[in-house]
Amino acid sequence: MYQAPLLQNNQANMMNSNPFANKREKARSPGPVMEYQYETLRPKKQYKEIKKVMRPSKKKFLLMKYGFSFDIKNRCVVCGSQHMWEADDPMRPYIPLTEVDKGRPMKGTFCPKHTQLWRQMEMLEQQILADKHGLDFKRFVPKARLPSLNRPKQPVTTLTPNDVAHLTAAGWSVSPPEMDKENGAERFLRLKAEIIGKMEQLERTLNNGE
Ligand SMILES: [Zn+2]
Repeated sequence: MYQAPLLQNNQANMMNSNPFANKREKARSPGPVMEYQYETLRPKKQYKEIKKVMRPSKKKFLLMKYGFSFDIKNRCVVCGSQHMWEADDPMRPYIPLTEVDKGRPMKGTFCPKHTQLWRQMEMLEQQILADKHGLDFKRFVPKARLPSLNRPKQPVTTLTPNDVAHLTAAGWSVSPPEMDKENGAERFLRLKAEIIGKMEQLERTLNNGE
């Protein structure tokens, strides 16, 4: 007679006894902006943890993973929720890469929640680097801006200097389309961003060489 509730309890207990998967699922699902609470204490393990949260979702068929679930313009590659970023939004995320911090640039984007988690991951990466070099690290997580209602949204057509630096760091070279005339100031910004990206590449190479 009490079997049904017991069974439910067991199922709930089973979910609770595996808090890691549960937590990751929660962090990966659509929702309000949140900070990810790490399971582990060591920064390098934390980095692995949060990188798993940020992996683009893959389609599943008979336990096989293939292709990406949400590699579509204006959709979050992690949770699939729709978000159109304004071109000048300071929180506008980087272009997602197929393997989070490396791989091919994707067509999708990150929603505000996953942008914030991306920043948290980036912050952790900087902390790991700072620790390595014996530098002081100041924890600073920028807050997401509320979308403004009275301004018409404009589609994103240009790469920000951050995008260029991010892509260059991942080993891509960015050049403007043939038809586009780049003016002096734009060229300056792009080259500067490329140098920042190359510096990051150099730093990664040096760190991996240790
Ligand atoms: Zn998302």
